[in-house]
Amino acid sequence: MIELNDLLAQIWPLAVQQTVGIEQVELKQALGRVLAQDVISMLDVPQHDNSGMDGYAVRSADFVAQRQFEVSQRIPAGASPDALLPGTVARIFTGAPIPPGADSVVMQEDVQVLCDGQIVFNALPKAGQWIRRAGEDIAAGQVVLPKGTRLDAIHVGLLASIGVAEVAVARRLKVGVMATGSELQSPGNPLKAGQIYNSNEYVWCGLLSALNVDVVSVGIVPDNFEATCAALESLADCDAVISSGGVSVGEEDHVKPAIEKVGELRSWKVAMKPGKPIAFGHINRLQGGYSWFFGLPGNPVSSAVAFKLIVKPFLDLLQGQTVAQVDWRLRMQQVQAEFAWLKPDERREEFLRVHVQSGKARLFANQSSGVLTSLAQSNGLVRLAKGQVVSPGDWVDCVMYRDLMS
Ligand code: AMP
Ligand code: MG
Repeated sequence: MIELNDLLAQIWPLAVQQTVGIEQVELKQALGRVLAQDVISMLDVPQHDNSGMDGYAVRSADFVAQRQFEVSQRIPAGASPDALLPGTVARIFTGAPIPPGADSVVMQEDVQVLCDGQIVFNALPKAGQWIRRAGEDIAAGQVVLPKGTRLDAIHVGLLASIGVAEVAVARRLKVGVMATGSELQSPGNPLKAGQIYNSNEYVWCGLLSALNVDVVSVGIVPDNFEATCAALESLADCDAVISSGGVSVGEEDHVKPAIEKVGELRSWKVAMKPGKPIAFGHINRLQGGYSWFFGLPGNPVSSAVAFKLIVKPFLDLLQGQTVAQVDWRLRMQQVQAEFAWLKPDERREEFLRVHVQSGKARLFANQSSGVLTSLAQSNGLVRLAKGQVVSPGDWVDCVMYRDLMS
């Protein structure tokens, strides 16, 4: 049995060394993809000093002599203004360029327009007021987004704001999934006696959709050695393959011998709860090379937790994210337990499903690794060391689900 930290130290560097290739995609296709290069702005944003208000562009020094002004030009957004004539003001609108010679904008609510069109100002303008400076958002030459960023909607908008139409991103990963278990049935079909629905594959597919990968599914694989080998081999051209179930040492568990036959088992059994029977290895390709392989436990909580803690960061790293970006251990927070945990596991660290609110963690009553509602009704995992007992009020380490899947 390997410690979780040791497993991560063993496998994450493998993914870092084998980051996939790069492709160019149009900006609108870039959502959810991982940037393959730093993006540097060629522009100042905004390009010009511009007005933050509808109002009047003025030279504040002119206000020493007078308070009543002629409007010498009108500057809507998109216009290219002339220099401001001394002793006059310019009508200006939000986003329009400040005319040379003006150093301040007075909002229209602070002026009176006389019947002859002259403008009277109610207050003395301060130099610089209501001017949005060129480059105050982004300066030309600045790294706007670093390599390894997984692009969300705001990132895509930021790239649009500097005029980027195409970006270099990691090639889309191909991830194979298979659910082993002769008891499994697909939703949409009635359950026969002894059957249960295959939920693990749905959890993974949902989690994988956030990673913007191509998912290849062979569906349900019955518990027999030949079928397991055949399913694994059929997915060998994927970048990574994830299976659930059949990974212990029961007579009906065929994943371990199958991976030893069609590839290599590199690690097996992790000292964590939920999730002990976890296999890591690879599946050989006929034409050379291999696909990474994760054999996750069948229990739904174990499979989902192992996916989030071990597999998801590995897939992120294959796409060129950095360890600092994906290591959830760097984003753990301390929360105060509102529960007691008095019979800890002495041989495995434990991840307890909790609901955290205002820094206080409430324990989901049923911590069985078969109870998927424990994940649905919690928002974080408390990480306990082997043998760690908890009394109400103790501070414990917790990782929130939002930090596991970002
Ligand atoms: P196993 O790891 O094959 O021993 O399975 C452990 C438990 O998880 C058993 O109760 C299985 O019925 C259940 N299980 C296995 N695969 C799935 C799946 N794809 N979806 C939901 N439950 C599963
Ligand atoms: Mg099974």
